[in-house]
Amino acid sequence: MTTKRTDITPDRSETVFEEFKPPYNKMQAAVEANRCLYCEDAPCIKACPTSIDIPTFIRKIATDNVKGSAKTIFESNVLGMSCARVCPVEVLCVGDCVFNEMDQPPIQIGKLQRYSTDVAYEKEWTYFEAGEDTGKNVGIVGAGPAALATAHELRRLGHAVTLYEKREVIGGLNTTGIAPYKMKADASVDEVNWILSIGGIEVKTGFEVGKDATLEELDAKHDALVLAFGLGPDSSLSAVGEDLEGVYGAVEYIELFKVGQVDVSGVKNAVVVGGGNTALDAVRELRGLGVESVTLAYRGREPGMSGYAHEWKAGKVEGVRAAFGTQPIAFEGAGKVEGIKCVRLDEKKKTIEGSEHVLPADLVLLAIGQGKLGELAASLPGVVVEKGCVQVDAGGATGRPGVYAAGDAANGGTEVVYAAAEGKKAAHAIDAYFKGQA
Ligand code: SF4
Repeated sequence: MTTKRTDITPDRSETVFEEFKPPYNKMQAAVEANRCLYCEDAPCIKACPTSIDIPTFIRKIATDNVKGSAKTIFESNVLGMSCARVCPVEVLCVGDCVFNEMDQPPIQIGKLQRYSTDVAYEKEWTYFEAGEDTGKNVGIVGAGPAALATAHELRRLGHAVTLYEKREVIGGLNTTGIAPYKMKADASVDEVNWILSIGGIEVKTGFEVGKDATLEELDAKHDALVLAFGLGPDSSLSAVGEDLEGVYGAVEYIELFKVGQVDVSGVKNAVVVGGGNTALDAVRELRGLGVESVTLAYRGREPGMSGYAHEWKAGKVEGVRAAFGTQPIAFEGAGKVEGIKCVRLDEKKKTIEGSEHVLPADLVLLAIGQGKLGELAASLPGVVVEKGCVQVDAGGATGRPGVYAAGDAANGGTEVVYAAAEGKKAAHAIDAYFKGQA
């Protein structure tokens, strides 16, 4: 069985970004680790979707057992390196640290996790071996965080795995979609390779379900099948002029500069439509790429934005402007976009009469959500799809024996750490299913 590794070009547009949370050195990590109270019944553990034993890994840093610290992290979350960079810790573990109640700065759990896992990668420490071969094989559709977490855990349990991925790069949104000031694509590729180093995970890239094989065929080929295909393309406004040059889906554009190149040298006014986390990443990324005027156009008001408040605060500091209560209705330009015709909305999101105006824009990114791919699975008898999401039980089982789903395909799109947790649970549910068949 082959194990395919993945590589990306070094001259990507994203490389101009600097990390906004610089890593700890050994001394800084030791000082921060020694501040931790190693709480019993620690609230930070409960706030972590993968239940990492946070006080234990921090205590191991304090006692200079970095290898053991990283092991504690990876045992719970094999994507611990990327999660240390991309988790919204402010609303998860760090947000629940007891120091918040004492008016003291909370422990910087993400930065400590990054310290341990970075040292582990740098020293090429490995912790896991594939389990004894069970003779069972599992097909996984997708190669993003949920797929990788499921695959790694299945290998530890001794089951063979094949990943079917549409793209040529693997790692999913961790590779193609994370804001580069949090994590660049090469770090995601390092993680992919580290995970694949367990061996026995075959990766078929450029593989499209429906074209190269149907889900029914994959289901028949494998002893179990996991649907971890993530989300679909950017949603569209279906407004006049949306096909003009210079109008992109935000996820599509972010992928372009994460794994390739974009030229923003001639862009004077960029507008990002939306108010969620992708929109906030996009405005900050455009500013970071050097676009002078970047405006967030959102139909609601500032307090109603679904994106994280701390990200928006950072965007404002970086010079992003906002047009709240603004609804695009058409894109204008001759061949290339030059402006967005908009109306203003009141607090109840009703159009204000006579409010039509044009926002100048020579680059527009639509960050109004992504389509759900769950319908792909609706052809499988027994699999239930609601609002585009595959319906699963707590272990990721669908209504069809042997078919599971994890990550965005089932949860509709959320943080990487949830994909890691769901993937691991699905692997154990599949193992129990195989044992039940024996
Ligand atoms: Fe340490 Fe804060 Fe977790 Fe307590 S809640 S164990 S102080 S990180």
